[in-house]
Amino acid sequence: MTLPSFRYHPDPVRSGSVIESGEKCFCCRECRGYIYAGPVYSEEDLDEAVCPWCIADGEAHKIFDASFVDIEAFSDGTPESVVNEITWRTPGYNAWQSEQWPGCCGDATAFVTPAGIEEIRKHYRELEGGLLSHIMYEMRISGGAATRMLGSLNRDAGPTAYLFRCLRCERYHFHIDQP
Ligand SMILES: [Zn+2]
Ligand SMILES: [Zn+2]
Repeated sequence: MTLPSFRYHPDPVRSGSVIESGEKCFCCRECRGYIYAGPVYSEEDLDEAVCPWCIADGEAHKIFDASFVDIEAFSDGTPESVVNEITWRTPGYNAWQSEQWPGCCGDATAFVTPAGIEEIRKHYRELEGGLLSHIMYEMRISGGAATRMLGSLNRDAGPTAYLFRCLRCERYHFHIDQP
């Protein structure tokens, strides 16, 4: 079965936000083999309860008044239609404290994956310098502490780097969060 496509979260299985599961979806009442495992903002307790198809077609948002990304996560100037597409019809991701969803080129970026230094060095070696600058200039952590934070990035235990990529200029953006 092919998962629906999400412009702003192209591979939610790889990022861990959608997992293989035999559970029935609370929304369409079907077992579709995959379930959404990211955050849900809703009155209803919907942890690991809706399938990606019901997110994609807006049913889960409509039926449960649910959103999947915190509305506060977006940078100023992100078009409202894009914020709606992401919060209502796109799988979110599990951050430690709070999510951020960077913008670029007048659009929101696409969420790629959470990563630790191991994943960065293995798959995104070219991003190490950019991440260190992010730690120094965005998080205002200097010198040895910045290098130590970079070296301690961990996908599962935190601090975790969340990678985003602009769909227009293809530049990577980061959010780092820790327990
Ligand atoms: Zn469903
Ligand atoms: Zn851009």
